[in-house]
Amino acid sequence: MTRIAIELTAPDIEAHRRSSTGVDFVHTFESGRAGPHVMVNAVTHGNEICGAIAVDRLLRMGVRPARGTLTLSFANIDAFSRFDPARPYATRFIDEDFNRVWNAQTLDGPRDSVELRRARQLRPFVEAADYLLDIHSMLEPSPPVMICGPLDKGIRFAFDVGIPRDIVSDEGHANGTRMRDFQGFGDPASPRNALLVECGQHWERAAEHVAWQTTWRFLRHVGAVEAETAAREIAQEAPPPQRLVRVTEAVVARTPEFRFARAFGGMEVVAREGDVIAYDGAQTVCAPYDNCVLVMPVPNNIKTGLTAVRLGRIEARPPV
Ligand SMILES: [Zn+2]
Repeated sequence: MTRIAIELTAPDIEAHRRSSTGVDFVHTFESGRAGPHVMVNAVTHGNEICGAIAVDRLLRMGVRPARGTLTLSFANIDAFSRFDPARPYATRFIDEDFNRVWNAQTLDGPRDSVELRRARQLRPFVEAADYLLDIHSMLEPSPPVMICGPLDKGIRFAFDVGIPRDIVSDEGHANGTRMRDFQGFGDPASPRNALLVECGQHWERAAEHVAWQTTWRFLRHVGAVEAETAAREIAQEAPPPQRLVRVTEAVVARTPEFRFARAFGGMEVVAREGDVIAYDGAQTVCAPYDNCVLVMPVPNNIKTGLTAVRLGRIEARPPV
């Protein structure tokens, strides 16, 4: 595995443990004015430091909602509290992926794990949220991406927030439901909406900036903060135009010999249908269409039986 520099330091969040909500590390603030319940969540995965930095900073700044309700939370604190720069990959989760348990059957079911216990604590807040931003980062270096789910309402939400450049629309994962897709967030008839931002590689300096900028643009868009307050935090320069990529398939490594045809970066575009993307034993994996986008490839972390990259097609912004 390629060594990746740990440029970010995990913040000490102990000061945020006690909370009037009764749930450790989950803080809810009421404005006393009508408005949506807005939630910003960090460390769904314990080694995703940029989100912890952003939420810690919001709490230390004393950010309060201008209208409606604001919940600021740290999700997988058991995994996060064990983050060790010497073993940074080890603390994604303790027992299971926190972001694969978000359906009523699993949450109401008899199974137990560190992550399920925490998800059951967070559930009332997630269920109360009209708008959710879940802040993540990635295993391998890649430009940041906004994961908006399969629905047009999620895609529009990502365009409304305005960053990052790349918007990835996908169906989620076969092995469990994400918080982003839970209940109304995944229902086209519900006005509730959620985004998952992947701010860059887990420990790269730039991820902290992306997390902060995305959070403030999100808070401004949903009306949780006054525009003037947000303007003090949001970078002045206009962001580049966004690009919508719809995931069409996952490429699963079938053999231990799986290797990429060349050193692809994240969100790289393979120009021609039939161009070789990877070799997998006797099989050749080719681009299924022109301008095929490689979504979050994991060239240094390929595991047989697991997704090595997802493929996506560039699409036009859906009509409003
Ligand atoms: Zn994550």
